[in-house]
Amino acid sequence: MSARTHILLGAPGSGKGTQAKRLVDELSLSHLSTGDILRDAVSKGTELGLRAKAIMASGKLVDDDTVNGLVFARLQDETQDVLFDGYPRTLQQAEALGNFLSSKGIGLGFVVNVDVPPEVLEARVVGRRTCSNNACGAIYHLESKPPKTEGVCDLCGSPLKHRADDTSEAFRSRMGEFNATFQPLLAFYSGGPNYRRVDGNRHPDQVFGSLVQLFREKA
Ligand SMILES: [Zn+2]
Repeated sequence: MSARTHILLGAPGSGKGTQAKRLVDELSLSHLSTGDILRDAVSKGTELGLRAKAIMASGKLVDDDTVNGLVFARLQDETQDVLFDGYPRTLQQAEALGNFLSSKGIGLGFVVNVDVPPEVLEARVVGRRTCSNNACGAIYHLESKPPKTEGVCDLCGSPLKHRADDTSEAFRSRMGEFNATFQPLLAFYSGGPNYRRVDGNRHPDQVFGSLVQLFREKA
């Protein structure tokens, strides 16, 4: 059973996933993402894994109880400190995790919110250009990473495209859905003593530096 359980929160596009990967390497944490746990349980054919597989095959989202069960089973096997990425996703999951940790006498570690203003997230998405050659798939940004020649991929010379998912309308619709679940989750954690906000609107290396410093604050 793990010693401490940390949680990384952030909107899609906040860079949270990339930061999580760097953090687990730097601090020797165990990286637990819901997607990985699901895939692992499905491939092992555990009872919960088979249930999750059937739900996904029907095109539905795996329900909170099944996700919680999979995560708790995985936590039982962990010996290192854990960093969650993408879990808990809902208030129900957060409450269930709290109860589970209390029942095992494990402390909740840091709950860190990689905070990026919505208008910055929108600019990141709207300025994104993707290589139209699927075999290449290079990603550019009109401001932060422009191609050498406008509209042309540096790597393979194919035209760049603006994906339908990368428009303001698509972004705002996704953010609306995300916030309906995320804001109650944030409210649940943000009053607690372990909550920390990190300014995510900086160079990824600076964000990483702040995160490392924070996690080392109380090792
Ligand atoms: Zn390309």
